[in-house]
Amino acid sequence: MPKTAKFRAIVQAKCPHCRRGDIFTGTLYGFDVQRTKENCDHCGQRFEIEPGYFYAAMYVSYAMNVAEMLTVGIATYVFSGGNLEFESLWLYLLVIFTGCLLLAPINYRYSRVILLHWLSPKIKYDPEYDKP
Ligand SMILES: [Zn+2]
Repeated sequence: MPKTAKFRAIVQAKCPHCRRGDIFTGTLYGFDVQRTKENCDHCGQRFEIEPGYFYAAMYVSYAMNVAEMLTVGIATYVFSGGNLEFESLWLYLLVIFTGCLLLAPINYRYSRVILLHWLSPKIKYDPEYDKP
């Protein structure tokens, strides 16, 4: 069960310390632009635990982008009937960069969530705070 609770906290972008408070303000695709909160509203955990800590999320975001570009590129290849001629280069560029633009909010949010939940050994889950 704890694995399921951790997965739910990651999908819902909750604090890795208490799994209750939100990491971001705003919505994923809304007019209220999402921003990372400084501290958790529920337990007070500071999210940027060191100055410039979220620069490391760039590497996570890069890996996510490469995976998305490969997936979209392969899907374009399959749905265009396996067309790999030079004339189809613009089709691939257009589809891949449109996909990158549309997925940018997801990359921003989940690169930081993955960094905080999986790649930050300083932040540990504490069940004491996981109460309403
Ligand atoms: Zn918290």
